[in-house]
Amino acid sequence: MELPVSAFDKLDTFLAHVRQTKYCWEWMGATTRDGYGTFNTGGKTSGGSALLVATHKFSFLVHNKIRSVPKGYHVMHKCDTDSNLANYRRCVNPNHLRSGTAQENLRDAQAKGRSRAGSRPGVPRTVLNPEAVQKIRRLLQSGLFSMRQIARHYKVHPKTIANIKKRVSHKNIT
Ligand SMILES: [Zn+2]
Repeated sequence: MELPVSAFDKLDTFLAHVRQTKYCWEWMGATTRDGYGTFNTGGKTSGGSALLVATHKFSFLVHNKIRSVPKGYHVMHKCDTDSNLANYRRCVNPNHLRSGTAQENLRDAQAKGRSRAGSRPGVPRTVLNPEAVQKIRRLLQSGLFSMRQIARHYKVHPKTIANIKKRVSHKNIT
């Protein structure tokens, strides 16, 4: 997806649908079923239909004055674990957005989420904190990774991930 040059003139129209809070900027317009905002760029797809783009992506591209991110890269929310919105996916604050690969996103989750507790020398024990559990749920929902892949990244048994999915464990964390 490449933004048409004319889309850069649509920033004011875009921002008219945005409620800026002290932290996140909330998109108040249309959203897709998975909770991301959509914006009509005014361009057309190769098939001739209206070129809609996810609002966080539009915000990232226009504020960085670029028309696309490299192949294999996505626009991601840095505020996914601490957004002040009911749904962080609606956030379009350019300072809360970054581009990265899906793989990087997983590593980032790992870095944010893992902590060690009660470890003895030579016996590392990984404990999943609530943020990690939330992130794992999102990763599971995204459908991009298998339970085994997620388990490997968090260095936990696949059964731990399966239990989080089934909400056998960490039930109190949504
Ligand atoms: Zn945000």
